[in-house]
Amino acid sequence: MALGERDVIERFFRGCGAARDDVPEGIGDDAALLKVPEGAQLVAAVDTLVAGVHFLDHFPPQSTGHRALAVNLSDLAAMGAEPAWALLALTLPEVDEPWLSSFASGLDRIAREHGVALVGGDTTSGPLCISVQLLGYVSGPQALRRSGGRPGDVLFVSGTPGDSAAGLEIERGTLQVADSAASDHLRNRFLFPTPRVALGQRLREHASACIDVSDGLLGDAGKLAAASGCGVEIELEALPVSAPLVSALGDERARITALSGGEDFELCFAVPPENVSRMLRELPQAEWQYNRIGVLTAEAGARVLRSGAVMEFSHSGYDHFVR
Ligand code: ADP
Ligand code: MG
Repeated sequence: MALGERDVIERFFRGCGAARDDVPEGIGDDAALLKVPEGAQLVAAVDTLVAGVHFLDHFPPQSTGHRALAVNLSDLAAMGAEPAWALLALTLPEVDEPWLSSFASGLDRIAREHGVALVGGDTTSGPLCISVQLLGYVSGPQALRRSGGRPGDVLFVSGTPGDSAAGLEIERGTLQVADSAASDHLRNRFLFPTPRVALGQRLREHASACIDVSDGLLGDAGKLAAASGCGVEIELEALPVSAPLVSALGDERARITALSGGEDFELCFAVPPENVSRMLRELPQAEWQYNRIGVLTAEAGARVLRSGAVMEFSHSGYDHFVR
């Protein structure tokens, strides 16, 4: 006999994620009770993954479980927040036990890695859809925002943007990469992104503004700049592109993909020039994995420089690849 709603919750989601002692009531009552630390600000984000839109049937369910929380962890990272409690709204067409088990294991693993407890949710039937709400808090130095940047602030990005967009194309079957190690690396960057939670928290002491890169680095850097009342210049040569991405696409296309891809879940952040040397000392780049890519400008808009000259960007040059 198929499992009922209560069995699904008991079997797959009770005990999912980390155990926390600030959860007087988690799964089981009508709502969760959570103890927010005295004086802290509550930080909240929610993201929805719709089958056929945000993931496809053949994607591994562990990845979908991982990504459902990772996208929210990345949003909290961009605020410099400490993640704590998650709620899961699941709409399922049927009770597919192997799928649920694998989905829950992906969710459980990344939740434990970040000390997040699953404290509640909702289970309904309908077309497959996963919505995760993540709650956390900021205490001590204030939260990071998109809007704190100023002209002259130095712009950085974590990780190697573009990998995930290429990985998605490989996973969809629209990009073939001969080098199988490179192909696996890129697929993994898409399937199991690494939200930069610890970096975001440390950046509260150094950065003036921060955004997580979910819609493409150039667009998201532009959003940070606009929110800060600035423009932005990014140097094409300064973009950190991974060896697997260059091996898959060649140097030029790799750089364009780093700018325009998406779903990177890296942090793009601005740092006042007077803070840069202290940040580099306290957060060594090799350990924390970030690179300088440009600068905020007084002139509005987002520009890419190649050998010091403004690049003309035709969207048609890369749209066919990205979507
Ligand atoms: P109610 O009908 O009062 O909304 P439910 O019977 O839907 O309660 O849920 C019972 C408990 O299980 C609640 O604590 C709820 O938060 C939790 N829950 C329901 N679905 C999920 C899920 N997919 N993941 C985690 N917790 C869930
Ligand atoms: Mg109820």
